[in-house]
Amino acid sequence: MAPQALRPSRFLGSETNLRVSMEFFPPKTDEMEETLWRSVERLAPLSPSFVSVTYGAGGSTRERTHHTLKRILAETDLKPAAHLTCVAASRDDVDAVVRAYGEAGIHHIVALRGDPAGGVGTRYEPHPQGYANAAELVAGIRRLGDFEISVAAYPEKHPESPGVAADIEMLKRKVDAGATHAITQFFFDNDLFEAYVEKVRAAGIDIPVAPGIVPVHSFPLIARFAEKAGASVPRWLAQRFEGLENDPATRQLVAAAVAAEQVLDLIDRGFTDLHFYTMNRADLVYAICHLLGMRPKGREVKEAAA
Ligand code: FAD
Repeated sequence: MAPQALRPSRFLGSETNLRVSMEFFPPKTDEMEETLWRSVERLAPLSPSFVSVTYGAGGSTRERTHHTLKRILAETDLKPAAHLTCVAASRDDVDAVVRAYGEAGIHHIVALRGDPAGGVGTRYEPHPQGYANAAELVAGIRRLGDFEISVAAYPEKHPESPGVAADIEMLKRKVDAGATHAITQFFFDNDLFEAYVEKVRAAGIDIPVAPGIVPVHSFPLIARFAEKAGASVPRWLAQRFEGLENDPATRQLVAAAVAAEQVLDLIDRGFTDLHFYTMNRADLVYAICHLLGMRPKGREVKEAAA
């Protein structure tokens, strides 16, 4: 059998026009802070286009998110983006957080509604004086300053949405309100994502839509996240991790192979914006970025601020 021709992505070099962003979550303990910071130090020299820090719904991580962002600003050259949710908060409270971000030098907000206060699957009740959804939040942020605004997008639709068309309509409302980028929920089937982007473009939405990529550090954990998020987990993915429960080294190799395969295929399909859910771990994301041709660029982490 003749060898299959190598596809262009197999020759990716450092000149490739990729825009890779990375997401972290605010640590709860000193130990988790150590892990996060080691990961930031490892990944920062790859010069991601931005790094984002998540926000607990209802402001539950408000201080920790802020602290993490301030540390990134103080100790690295990275461009930070702050996630912000509007669930269980008044407009005044949310606006105060937006202003504080602007004053701290953070000019990119990932604007989200947040999950219902009663948990995923319960009915969403907007705060009586709050923003009702992410589209209203985007409009509110737009009024407060010249921020880049990213919003969430769902290739397999949001669990509360009646259908993909309604979900895309909601994305359109967020874009019409001023969103500049979209980042998707994670997914494992690139055909699904490509079909989704076609529908998004057909709806007249022209902002960049970065596929959210989650390296599978732990299959059971990702399967749980996926169930909550309404993301499908293909049978082949489960099969690849079968029997590796007590074999972390092989699991890690398989996880790297799965993610590399997914991102190289996305690039072959012409998608050059990628958003990695790092889970605050550098190893797999670093390896995948290396495969993509990204190399450290002397963007070092500054001496820790006193
Ligand atoms: P919206 O865009 O307001 O709505 C979500 C969906 O609900 C819509 O797509 C639509 O289908 C449906 N819907 C809502 N209102 C209406 C309406 N009036 N009419 C019809 N349909 C409607 N959560 C956190 O708590 N913190 C984070 O930091 C965080 N970061 C995230 C980052 C990314 C990239 C993604 C994809 C999700 C993130 N989430 C985060 C989860 C997010 O908060 C939840 O998915 C939440 O349930 C919906 O938020 P949204 O901004 O997509 O909401």
